[in-house]
Amino acid sequence: EGASKAAALTADCPVINAGDGGHLHPTQTLTDLLTLREEKGRLSDLTVGFCGDLKNGRTVHSLLKALSCFEGNKFILVSTQELKVPTYIKDYISASGKTYEEYSSLEEVMPKLDVLYMTRIQRERFGSPEEYEKQKNVYCLDAKKMKLASPDLIVLHPLPRVDEIAVEVDDDPRALYFKQASYGMYVRMALILCMLDYRLESKPLLSGKVISEVKCTNPRCITHTEAYLPHSFRKNGDVLECEYCDERILI
Ligand SMILES: [Zn+2]
Repeated sequence: EGASKAAALTADCPVINAGDGGHLHPTQTLTDLLTLREEKGRLSDLTVGFCGDLKNGRTVHSLLKALSCFEGNKFILVSTQELKVPTYIKDYISASGKTYEEYSSLEEVMPKLDVLYMTRIQRERFGSPEEYEKQKNVYCLDAKKMKLASPDLIVLHPLPRVDEIAVEVDDDPRALYFKQASYGMYVRMALILCMLDYRLESKPLLSGKVISEVKCTNPRCITHTEAYLPHSFRKNGDVLECEYCDERILI
């Protein structure tokens, strides 16, 4: 995690982060924002449900951060105990003045939602096959659950889908995940065009302090495999935040 930033430090051309481990997925988030703007007509005053692997789901983390920037949004987080949204994302939501609620039942929240963002349980994010097996089929969106929702709901998914959305839901006009994928193509075309024109201004990649004696505590952080990288942290009170993976370390 943080590999794209590490690559950008040495590359002499722009680097697009197309998803770094379980950390962030900014190009998917641009896709999601375009989909919301086109299909709901707004990016604010939305009640957005997220369901699935909210712990490792990088698309979820990026979209929660982005939607926290817009007024009036509320977040409903549906997951098992083991796969809840990480604390640093929850703190980000709270610091932006937005609210979130956590649930374990999808049925319970369906009537409240303007948007439902489903995600798959990713086999590669689990330490053992047993852990994956335990989590993989907990949530499945089907026609019965869709009946509980508002006629204005839209269902999004970053794809690929495994079993978390029944194929019968594909014919529901509220299921917009395939249309969302086509918006993704245009977003990525636009992004590449901007980069080729060098129209995007770049900020310094590292703005914190290099503290050589401190190691990031996230075992998936790029600083562990690329040992030459400067150990750069943002200081936030008693907490050091890794500038590559956003892991927070108490000091
Ligand atoms: Zn890190």
